[in-house]
Amino acid sequence: MSGQRKVTVVGAGIVGMASASYLQRDGHDVTVIDRVAPGESCSFGNAGGLSPGAVAPVATPGILKQIPSWLADPMGPLAIRWSYLLPALPWLLRFVRASEPERVERIAKALRDLLGPVFESYDPIVRAAGAEDLIHRVGQLYAYGSEAAFQGDATGRELRRRNGVQFEVLERDQIRQMEPALAPIFVKAVHFGAHGHCADPLGLVQRLAARVAAAGGRILRDEVRDIEAGPAGGSVIVTSSGRHAADAVVVAAGAWSHRLAARLGDRVPLETQRGYHVTVADPGVAPRRNVMWAERKFVATPMAMGLRVAGTVEIAGLKAAPDYRRADVLLKQAAIMYPGLRTDAVTKWMGHRPCTPDTLPVIGPATRRAGVFYAFGHGHTGLSGASTTGKVIAEIVGGRPSSIDLAPFRADRF
Ligand SMILES: Cc1cc2nc3c(=O)[nH]c(=O)nc-3n(C[C@H](O)[C@H](O)[C@H](O)COP(=O)(O)OP(=O)(O)OC[C@H]3O[C@@H](n4cnc5c(N)ncnc54)[C@H](O)[C@@H]3O)c2cc1C
Repeated sequence: MSGQRKVTVVGAGIVGMASASYLQRDGHDVTVIDRVAPGESCSFGNAGGLSPGAVAPVATPGILKQIPSWLADPMGPLAIRWSYLLPALPWLLRFVRASEPERVERIAKALRDLLGPVFESYDPIVRAAGAEDLIHRVGQLYAYGSEAAFQGDATGRELRRRNGVQFEVLERDQIRQMEPALAPIFVKAVHFGAHGHCADPLGLVQRLAARVAAAGGRILRDEVRDIEAGPAGGSVIVTSSGRHAADAVVVAAGAWSHRLAARLGDRVPLETQRGYHVTVADPGVAPRRNVMWAERKFVATPMAMGLRVAGTVEIAGLKAAPDYRRADVLLKQAAIMYPGLRTDAVTKWMGHRPCTPDTLPVIGPATRRAGVFYAFGHGHTGLSGASTTGKVIAEIVGGRPSSIDLAPFRADRF
């Protein structure tokens, strides 16, 4: 499809708004439809990490061995609601299969293509939205409380090295110098100098949305029920309140995208790995950068609204109520990580990460419907992956070659 067209984006999370921003830069007439306000779903409460080097998939060799100890530990990073085990089982089996070593190598290369240019891809749309103050390229630390935990992550470091990710290993004293607010319990850390964070993930989506609206785009509050083939080409988007014609449609509906994809004839195994955060409004400590406590698998990030502590994976589907004890665990661990953390004024949140079994999102055309494109399934790194996704979506909607190889991201790979 070339020339300037009517394009509708379903979903006003970070992926949908980055796509809408790039499509509008190309001169398209853009409409974004979401049942909630921009950024109010998963993109609301992430840890803000902007990680070009996050090339290791979630399922890596040996993950099966780790799962029982994670599940047995009430402070551990993984929980499964047992009532949801059966519905999640097919996805979980695919997830384990994706940890085979040769698949991990291929996935890492695709992630490098997608995440590597995160800052360069954000740059034009962030500048247009006047959101430069939210992007901080100040590095990121993975901190380890024991030598054994550090050694246990050697495979991940080798994978990063093979994919050209730059990092340095810090010893106890260097960690203290770099992050004086951290407790002296960390014996090793990996410093990614080219990483960074967003100081307000919701604010970023809102500013992109404001820019799209100011430049003539429409942002509608509505529920998309179906995407039909248009009588004379293009699509008709069927919503709760009406029907909208579009030349092209982008499905960026986060953890709910598989429902629309199924209506278009694509069966994509998408599961939600629910994550939690606590944001401490007046933390009384001043960390400088985003730090992951590597063996506990959560991240603490200095943000505009306070210190955000985010992470954990809960397999419980899209409907179950949040279990905020998961957030309480994060707060307890953050108090160990940052002695002196004031924990009186906190807010808690749960969000639905949209996860494929192989960690890679689905980016590219629908396989059975011309003029529909997918941009979903970014899992743990959707804030980082959104910018290049938006760029690539505008390229392929405009009929141009994609600047990254989209074969690993195809909808029919499963
Ligand atoms: C605790 C936690 C920490 C995280 N930390 C990081 C991090 O540090 N770095 C990073 O890169 N990523 C991180 N992530 C992941 C990141 O937040 C997600 O990958 C990203 O927000 C997904 O964006 P999205 O636009 O695809 O989905 P969403 O933000 O969920 O947006 C999808 C939108 O589609 C709408 N929608 C769905 N179906 C329909 C329909 N039928 N009609 C209308 N609207 C519809 C929904 O209402 C929703 O608003 C984290 C996630 C969590 C939970």
